[in-house]
Amino acid sequence: MNNTDWNDYSLETQAIRAGHQRTPEDEHSIPIFATSSYVFKSAEDAALRFTGKIPGNIYSRFTNPTVNAFQERLAFMEKGERCLAFSSGMAAIMAVGMGLLKAGDHVICSRSVFGNTVLVFQNYFAKFGVETDFVDLIDTKAWEAAIKSNTRFLFLETPSNPLIEIADIKALADIAHAHDSLLIVDNCFCTPVLQKPFELGADIVIHSATKYIDGQGRCVGGAVIASDEIIEKYIYPYLRTGGATMSPFNAWVFLSGLETLAIRMKAHCDNAFELAKWLETQPNVAKVHYPGLSSHAQHDLAKRQQTQFGGIVSFELKGGKDAAWQLIDSTKMISITANLGDVKTTITHPATTTHGRLSPEARAEAGIKDGLVRISVGLESIEDIKNDLIKGLA
Ligand SMILES: *Cc1c(COP(=O)(O)O)cnc(C)c1O
Repeated sequence: MNNTDWNDYSLETQAIRAGHQRTPEDEHSIPIFATSSYVFKSAEDAALRFTGKIPGNIYSRFTNPTVNAFQERLAFMEKGERCLAFSSGMAAIMAVGMGLLKAGDHVICSRSVFGNTVLVFQNYFAKFGVETDFVDLIDTKAWEAAIKSNTRFLFLETPSNPLIEIADIKALADIAHAHDSLLIVDNCFCTPVLQKPFELGADIVIHSATKYIDGQGRCVGGAVIASDEIIEKYIYPYLRTGGATMSPFNAWVFLSGLETLAIRMKAHCDNAFELAKWLETQPNVAKVHYPGLSSHAQHDLAKRQQTQFGGIVSFELKGGKDAAWQLIDSTKMISITANLGDVKTTITHPATTTHGRLSPEARAEAGIKDGLVRISVGLESIEDIKNDLIKGLA
């Protein structure tokens, strides 16, 4: 069936069936097209394909059928017009900046984004005359106050890492659009299963496919989804020239990841919610950060904006860093790793790993206490996850 028809289907169906253009071999599963180049029918055919006057594959830096299938499938799921895949989530973020920004532009970025995203703006785009202001994710007024006449875009992740704060996407999209600027949402934590930023007014959605989209910790990849116009004018020319391309093998892994994404996300959320409620009853836990809890400051916003509350839980131990390290070292099953979105539960101490390069003052300002522990809740039995934590919590 024709690809455009998938718009009428639900996300669960799109995730399994959209994007595959069956070849004359009648294969049921999407093949890996391990080819760098393609053969043209004639000199004229080659010339026409290069100018884009007729469609068709040219060279796998920017056209590959397996990568294309991944792009089409993810675009349907996000309810976006067009998707381009990249070699990593950071490559996707880099591409958005390289495509959209020029010297003299201004960016507003949430203070609570992935560490390397901060560095991209602070260390690299700054070198080329792009100024970035970092603001508090949930302080909508601070975003508005930071807007300048040359603000090209606002950039955020929601929920944030590691404090799981929720930004009001709709309010920030309205602010961006009132000032002729764009809203970019890194939707890595929620995936389209839990949150659809375009329906709330976002202009560009970014993914690290490395996390929930793969879901089993095997490949690194990323994606940018936006309108045809934005992709065609700003992102595709950069991908074609800059070359941070997703490999066909990785696209094939991510395609099968998408097929189980909806049921995995539901199971991640169920386990995480259960763990968060249980942690709240533990005497040595000072605070649990999980948007499903009514104690969470943006619980109502999370309920409106997301279908479920996500797979990441963080919590503060009364005993500070020593208690946090002790808990982490007492686990037998849970993996000590900073990766997230895996079927395997992982545990980290943000203050000495992902956020260890921040000064103690900057960490305090970001609200990341020494007793904070972050868990990416996997799909093992929730009883086994609790049992692995119970000794260290005592
Ligand atoms: C991991 C991550 C990235 C970067 O993705 P890579 O695939 O590791 O390059 C970007 N944003 C968020 C929210 C992430 O968790």
